[in-house]
Amino acid sequence: MNERDSEQVAQTFAERGYTLTGHESDADAILVNTCSVRDQAEQKALGKMGMMGKYRDVRSHVVYGFMGCMAQSRGAELFDRIPHLDLVVGTQKYHRVFDYVDGILGRRLEERMDEVGAEMVTGRVEDEVKKVNGKEVISAKMVDTEEEKGSQNTIRDHVSKETKQATAFVSIMQGCNMRCSFCIVPDTRGKERGRPIGDIVDEVKRLVDKGVREVTLLGQIVNLYGRTEFEKVDGKSPFVQLLEAVHEVEDLKRIRFTSPHPIGYRDDLVEAFKYLPKLCSHIHFPMQSGSDRILKLMRRPYKNEKFLTICEKMKAARPDLAITTDIIVGFPGETEEDFQATIDCMKQVEFDNSFIFRYSKRKDTPAAEMDGQLSEKVKEERNQALLRIQEEMTTAKNAKLIGTRQEILCEGPSKTNKERLSGRTSQNKIVIFDGDAERMTGEVMDVMVEDSTGYTLYGTPVIH
Ligand code: SF4
Repeated sequence: MNERDSEQVAQTFAERGYTLTGHESDADAILVNTCSVRDQAEQKALGKMGMMGKYRDVRSHVVYGFMGCMAQSRGAELFDRIPHLDLVVGTQKYHRVFDYVDGILGRRLEERMDEVGAEMVTGRVEDEVKKVNGKEVISAKMVDTEEEKGSQNTIRDHVSKETKQATAFVSIMQGCNMRCSFCIVPDTRGKERGRPIGDIVDEVKRLVDKGVREVTLLGQIVNLYGRTEFEKVDGKSPFVQLLEAVHEVEDLKRIRFTSPHPIGYRDDLVEAFKYLPKLCSHIHFPMQSGSDRILKLMRRPYKNEKFLTICEKMKAARPDLAITTDIIVGFPGETEEDFQATIDCMKQVEFDNSFIFRYSKRKDTPAAEMDGQLSEKVKEERNQALLRIQEEMTTAKNAKLIGTRQEILCEGPSKTNKERLSGRTSQNKIVIFDGDAERMTGEVMDVMVEDSTGYTLYGTPVIH
């Protein structure tokens, strides 16, 4: 989701004549989009921003800004941590970043000393003049973290890539109304707000016109899309109505979505997998824990049995379905018994992959204050145990694919070896193969799987 928001901001700059650079040292403006899900991510963002302050010694006009969740949750206190910071922009204000940056930059480059933050609609403005290498630089210190009605409708533009692009993310909503005790998202992203179906379909059509063949619909709880804004029609939730509408887009080959939640995962969505063939045979379905006691402490309002029932129904609807998940291990109060329940559930569902996170305290969340915090040693041991179990399951599942023919969407050169191509099966498994990037990117094609190294498959295209 952060990646998608960053792309939106980047596109607003590109549209107005700025050039995106891959080198921080060349940049006139450096914006860091921050995640608050884990403390480690915040520390990394702060460290990186601190380190990049050196560019102002050489280019005194450089504008520095934080956007996203950490900007939202910490606001103006970030100026105390990073003295060279100019801008803090929250999660409902991505569409305003360009005006703020352009305003500061324009004045710095023109060396005008009038008020830097004149265009600000909301927020605090505190100009001060500092000397950098004997030159006067206006330090802006602008912050805008207010709520803004309709901000979910502003995440809709995509950066035009020089190379062919086969897949794209489409943000369909923002915010979350749940209050999981470990999560800071409801504070940083606000309440659930969905975009109109027509706007989303138009965005998908524009992407398909540019060559995109697969879209992933994004939301904090994607299956709850539109429940507060739009009506059910013929017993179908707004999310299923959206899937049907996107499915109609000609030349779109595949649809994915992430992430669904057991709450609101109803039979209309299960059924959709039977009659919408463009829906890929994969769901990323966060389980978090296999223990009902821990789910309750996490304030996840469902029992493990419900999670398992949905998995079973989904496998019945799509027999070739792959299920991946998120698990938090070492949550406060997690006993050996609770941990074993998570292991049992992993084995029962036979996840194709799991993203396993060691619980870490997040500031301002109820779980951070709970009794029964586990030692890092215990958390690490349990984390490693789950990783081993998952690795065994994934390796065994992928080994069974050796010698089979799989349909993939070619996504272009592999990220790890540009000489080779990469694609994904409907089950979201990566396949590496040789071929012509220009001709094959965006093509749905068959490959014979010849090898597997645990998580990655290797194959040869089947020439028709
Ligand atoms: S469902 Fe829970 S974990 Fe997911 S974004 Fe909402 S509060 Fe956070």
